[in-house]
Amino acid sequence: MEFVAATNNAHKLAEMRRILVRMGHTVLSQREAGVSLDPDENGTTFEENAAIKAQAICEACRKPTIADDSGLCVDALDGAPGVYSARYAGVHGDDDANNRKLLAAMEEVPAQQRGAHFTSAVCVWLPGGRHAVYVGQCPGSIGFEEKGTNGFGYDPLFIPDEVGVPGCSAQCKENVARRTYAQLSADEKDAISHRGRALALMERQLPQFLTDESVLAAVCGPATPKQTNTQTG
Ligand code: IMP
Repeated sequence: MEFVAATNNAHKLAEMRRILVRMGHTVLSQREAGVSLDPDENGTTFEENAAIKAQAICEACRKPTIADDSGLCVDALDGAPGVYSARYAGVHGDDDANNRKLLAAMEEVPAQQRGAHFTSAVCVWLPGGRHAVYVGQCPGSIGFEEKGTNGFGYDPLFIPDEVGVPGCSAQCKENVARRTYAQLSADEKDAISHRGRALALMERQLPQFLTDESVLAAVCGPATPKQTNTQTG
């Protein structure tokens, strides 16, 4: 299936594309779909923001669209930065400043209280308005210093509880070496990451979503009433 990825974040686009292509899908960037929108993410949940992005881009390009809204929730910070992860330090997408702020906020927090998780809400939106949201999470903890150079965002500070087994996309094992997301290969991250898990859930549910009669009506005929379906994996 061909999707337009509703994101202006090049790193996120690369991850979504890499995971979806492995599943046999084709991914167009917003630029390739001829859309230069940057919708206002004014929702209060990952699910809402994913739907806002997917709907706006789908309505602009009239193609099946997929959006990811994601972020890091830190236990010791009552779930912050959460939906504000991209702009935690003030400027949207300033990863270095966000990581510095997170390290400073966690300076006094002992090892056993540094639990955190990443969440990804993936919204698929079809022309006609039918859509579904799939949620994936990855539990882990926050390191005491940045480690690793792969990935983006908070990757150098986030230590997942598990890592994927390279070459075995469905398998994972305990992260005994306590490597950060940024120290994992793409395969090792995608198998256990919040985004990988949300997209894997979407992939499992997609056949049913696409064969539902209301989808066919939405794509081929008159608009159908909106229906949202959120699932967590
Ligand atoms: P969004 O574009 O509003 O979904 O912002 C997501 C933000 O969450 C990014 O800018 C990163 O700061 C953070 N984030 C989401 N996913 C990841 C990831 O896989 N690794 C590191 N940071 C991430």
